[in-house]
Amino acid sequence: MNKIKKKHAQLIIIGSGPAGYTAAIYSARSNIDTLLITGSQIGGQLIQTDEIENWPGDYSHINGITLMNRMLLHVKKFSVNIIHDVIKSVNFKKNPFELLGEEYSYTGYAIIIATGSHTKLLNINSENLYMGKGVSTCAVCDGFFYKNQFVAVVGGGNSALEEAIYLSNIAKKVYLIHRRNQFRADKILINRLYDKIKKRNNIIILFNSIVMDILGNDISMNKIKIYSNIDSTVKYLNVSGLFIAIGHIPNSQIFSKYIDIQNNYVKIDYNKNYMKTQTNIPGIFSAGDVSDSIYKQAITAAASGCMAAIDAEKYLNNNLK
Ligand code: FAD
Ligand code: NAP
Repeated sequence: MNKIKKKHAQLIIIGSGPAGYTAAIYSARSNIDTLLITGSQIGGQLIQTDEIENWPGDYSHINGITLMNRMLLHVKKFSVNIIHDVIKSVNFKKNPFELLGEEYSYTGYAIIIATGSHTKLLNINSENLYMGKGVSTCAVCDGFFYKNQFVAVVGGGNSALEEAIYLSNIAKKVYLIHRRNQFRADKILINRLYDKIKKRNNIIILFNSIVMDILGNDISMNKIKIYSNIDSTVKYLNVSGLFIAIGHIPNSQIFSKYIDIQNNYVKIDYNKNYMKTQTNIPGIFSAGDVSDSIYKQAITAAASGCMAAIDAEKYLNNNLK
């Protein structure tokens, strides 16, 4: 790694979602020299949501940007070096560990990987062609552009239902397209979806349907091709927007040369009963959605960020005499 600008800290946290910010609060309060690298999505995935109602203590309307800005203010209260950079590659062969970013190169005696996940795509060619030209992965970010238009949301989990409900307040009609005949989303959201349908009557659910193609004039999309996995029929829907909400893929790729990964998730719990967040390399810890194949919630990400910081502190105390 031959970058000129170098930075060093005892502990480096990669990621500024609930896991990264919580880890930073805990490590700074333990008096560990802490550096946090935000990545390109400052605040993480939650900044894409308009309403969070399961963050304990915040019982009235709070949106993702407000919550994550409050976490950032909390981090800033302590002595944490926050750097806006994206890590491109790592060298975990020996301690101090090395990270190469777009702006700086870094060395640290302990690392917390809290890089979360990114949106999964449909894997059809046309979605790349029309990304940003009708295709979106964030209704809160882009929904406004579809005022009084026809749009579609694909997916059957919490994200898809939230997006459909959100868009129904803006768009004229929202098609909610799911590949099965049962939603994966929480009951409360399913009930809210049906309440919304009763009230506004502008969400149309298409179960057992697959988006096969996105069509348009290269400048913007105007149609999607839908296949029914019940009767094999094909139909076209005239929509100017398609919101993809079919899950997430952990941001683990840059670590895969050194760190054990399973189904894209960073494997942890190598130091049983002692350091739950440790990876296969002592000194490298992981927290949040990047290492959680099950829960994937803001509160579980924050909790594991806390655990990773406590584990890192133990490691540094035992190894940096
Ligand atoms: P993330 O929030 O994904 O943050 C990852 C961070 O890592 C980002 O800051 C990113 O910039 C950074 N990063 C990534 N790669 C790099 C790199 N190479 N270099 C440097 N930095 C990097 N959960 C709830 O509990 N309640 C909800 O209401 C809720 N609503 C949601 C709505 C939507 C639309 C979505 C998508 C998710 C929602 N979730 C909700 C889930 C919740 O957002 C996640 O569980 C949580 O954000 C995970 O936190 P994290 O810190 O692990 O990762
Ligand atoms: P998710 O729960 O994994 O749901 C993904 C959905 O997309 C599923 O319905 C899945 O179908 C479908 N799908 C997956 N691959 C597909 C493909 N190739 N083509 C078509 N459909 C496909 O993902 P999510 O909704 O993004 O949620 C991710 C995590 O964030 C979850 O843990 C969720 O609880 C959390 N979250 C929480 C909230 C909240 O608390 N309010 C809000 C948003 C997200 P199948 O059902 O057939 O598998």
